[in-house]
Amino acid sequence: MSDSKKILITGGAGFIGSAVIRYIIEQTAHQVINLDKLTYAANLQALQSVSTNNRYFFEKVDICHRHALDHIFEQYQPNAIIHLAAESHVDRSINHPAKFIETNVIGTFTLLESSYHYWQNLAKDLKETFRFIHVSTDEVYGELQQNESKFTESTPYAPNSPYSASKASSDHLVRSWYKTYGLPTIITHSTNNYGPFQHPEKLIPSVIANALAGRPILIYGEGLQMRDWIYVEDNAKALYSVLINGKIGETYNIGANNESTNIALAEKLCKILDELAPQYKSSIIKYRDLIQFVSDRPGHDYRYAIDSSKITKEIGWQPQEDFESGLRKTVIAYLNSKQIIG
Ligand code: NAD
Repeated sequence: MSDSKKILITGGAGFIGSAVIRYIIEQTAHQVINLDKLTYAANLQALQSVSTNNRYFFEKVDICHRHALDHIFEQYQPNAIIHLAAESHVDRSINHPAKFIETNVIGTFTLLESSYHYWQNLAKDLKETFRFIHVSTDEVYGELQQNESKFTESTPYAPNSPYSASKASSDHLVRSWYKTYGLPTIITHSTNNYGPFQHPEKLIPSVIANALAGRPILIYGEGLQMRDWIYVEDNAKALYSVLINGKIGETYNIGANNESTNIALAEKLCKILDELAPQYKSSIIKYRDLIQFVSDRPGHDYRYAIDSSKITKEIGWQPQEDFESGLRKTVIAYLNSKQIIG
């Protein structure tokens, strides 16, 4: 894909999708069609830097609508798809699982059907180079105990939440469309992403927002769950390199070796805030004093950790961002967006 191709991105107004679009528009000559339903999770501000670019197109479409999808394929004739559209918040999946089944399972199924119909009718050369990249999560592997080895691509699936079960279901559909119909699919499993423009319901933005507002910073259980973090721009580059150099039918884990307990992470963020926005609310001495523990959520996985040696070895991708500097960038982006620092 060295020259200008058309890449259809679903969920491009979301946190990771928008980072992928910014990367492709800024770093390549490709055109991007952003197909997004614009749910509560979408944030068009994240696309402001590229929205007037003549290689960027936006279509407000629900991936569950087959006719609308067929029309997009017909109109744009894309060369590849990166599929990110999903309901993505575990807490919401516990309270409202139906939406997760609808978008993540039925939506992915509908997108596969429409893609297959389109792909089947392509000329031979376009058919050969077409790719369907399905963006999944490490949560499909379930949880690890303290001393267990990290998730590899051959770790068996053991999803524990309605969110991870719906993503696991969509992965199986994608795999079967490759095995049964030959649709050229590739699946990625990334660990927890962080960075600018993440929805405030997620852990890192919620810690920052609550700290600055002087509200309690709520941490589940004792905060000892371990997560493995990757800076969103590193994941965006990984997804693009999988699109260009990944092998059809393969799966790739994407992570950056940044394991941390939730409590250690919250404390790290508080420390950065103490330095960058000290006593923003005058009554707060140290932001960490706002941390409070609340009862754990059901089915809360203890630990995720990703072994991403395969993508490094086979594709040559490596994360660039260091955890400390990535967190600092994230806090600075938040403070800038709220005009707390200039
Ligand atoms: P997000 O919730 O920020 O964004 C999801 C986007 O999908 C939103 O713009 C939303 O409007 C769109 N969308 C939702 N339902 C849709 C539908 N029916 N039709 C069309 N568009 C729809 O999610 P994110 O954090 O950017 O995650 C993107 C993908 O990456 C998801 O598939 C998620 O499972 C996966 N993932 C996320 C993480 C993470 O840490 N955020 C980690 C691993 C994998």
